[in-house]
Amino acid sequence: MFSKILIANRGEIALRVIRACRELGIQTVAVHSTADTDAMHVRMADESICIGPPSGTLSYLNIPNIISACEITGAEAVHPGYGFLSENASFVQVLEDHDIKFIGPTAEHIRIMGDKITAKDTMKNLGVPCVPGSDGGVPTIEEAFKVSDEMGFPVIVKATAGGGGRGMKLAKTRDDLEAAFFGARAESKAAFGNDEVYIEKYLTLPRHIEVQVFGDGKGRAVHLGERDCSLQRRHQKVFEEAPGPGIDRETRDRIGKVCADAVADINYAGAGTIEFLFERGEFFFIEMNTRLQVEHPVTEAIFGVDLVKQQICVAAGEEMTFRQEELSIKGHAIEVRINAETLPNFTPCPGKISTFHAPGGLGVRMDSALYDGYTIPPYYDSLIAKLIVTGNTREATLARLRRALSELIVDGVDTTLPLFGALLDEPDIQSGNYDIHWLENWLEAQASG
Ligand code: ADP
Repeated sequence: MFSKILIANRGEIALRVIRACRELGIQTVAVHSTADTDAMHVRMADESICIGPPSGTLSYLNIPNIISACEITGAEAVHPGYGFLSENASFVQVLEDHDIKFIGPTAEHIRIMGDKITAKDTMKNLGVPCVPGSDGGVPTIEEAFKVSDEMGFPVIVKATAGGGGRGMKLAKTRDDLEAAFFGARAESKAAFGNDEVYIEKYLTLPRHIEVQVFGDGKGRAVHLGERDCSLQRRHQKVFEEAPGPGIDRETRDRIGKVCADAVADINYAGAGTIEFLFERGEFFFIEMNTRLQVEHPVTEAIFGVDLVKQQICVAAGEEMTFRQEELSIKGHAIEVRINAETLPNFTPCPGKISTFHAPGGLGVRMDSALYDGYTIPPYYDSLIAKLIVTGNTREATLARLRRALSELIVDGVDTTLPLFGALLDEPDIQSGNYDIHWLENWLEAQASG
């Protein structure tokens, strides 16, 4: 086992990893920008080291400085959290060259899944059902018309290098295609330095269902059921639950086995998520994330496992302790993502927290790096807290969420907290009857009174 791990991240996910390390008796090194000197992850780690100025590009994404931090502190492994360098294959390569272990899959697997066309091809060949679409990249507008006419509108133009909902444009009809095609290309070029796009059939009523997988890197893999992350705004998840409403045991076992077999086949190591759109009883692969997800706690809650500890153990060459037949679901879990943003436009609202009070009690988990007097810097993602609640049934979990929300206090900045109280009043949320468009439609309806 490692004796010291460096966490190349900040905020709640850095704390999450520090907690797992502490339980495993592993020393931790926090890295931080000059804007994060007083951040909670710096206070909680055993050691800390400054890696650059506020801008993420110059600090949390600064590979040479992170490598130096490992060498100075003697860290033997790096946990990347999510975002930042978590899906950066060249970072993994550089770590390897320096004999530092990356806690995650190989550079090759990250590369394959990071390119959405290659990912789709790989999954198709492994027997995973995919969204109908172009065969690979679509280089010209003529080709785009040809593919879309064959498939029928609506279609969605997506960046091969895409992520975080960027580089994706919908063409409802033929008239929209030109704008969508060039729009997606331009956005992708600006965000990812790559303008390759592909085209998919646009599904009109799907749910976003993702399967948690975990591999030992030696041909063994399990699945840990699904999460429903359909409640999204601008393709960003807002509210996640597990198990997925309406997904029965037979369906879960079937898609779970397809996913576990696929990652076992490629000797995948560590945690991964295979994302699907689910419509009329059918699954369509959209992408695989080769890292821990923001919403992993809902899976941990219903399976009673610690995914981060397992990631660390597998990276250290220990045996995976999961066996598929031993994994079973107990109860229901929901996570809500609380952002420092001003409603109704979700504009970022950094600033000083005057009061922070976390809810407690049975079945309540709060993953947050906030504390009284903390100043949220304006340079990073606006996620400030994840509230995860667990109950025996979905109904009990919703009631617990309402109760926990009523206890939570975040004063000093605006947050998206009021959104969740309003959502819990909605019959569709209460019954689990929502798809990926539900939230956008609801927000629009609220805005227009
Ligand atoms: P990203 O990597 O940017 O998150 P994804 O491919 O995972 O992009 O898609 C993000 C979201 O966009 C999905 O959860 C879904 O809401 C929507 N989406 C993606 N592809 C389609 C599609 N073919 N039809 C309908 N919606 C889609």
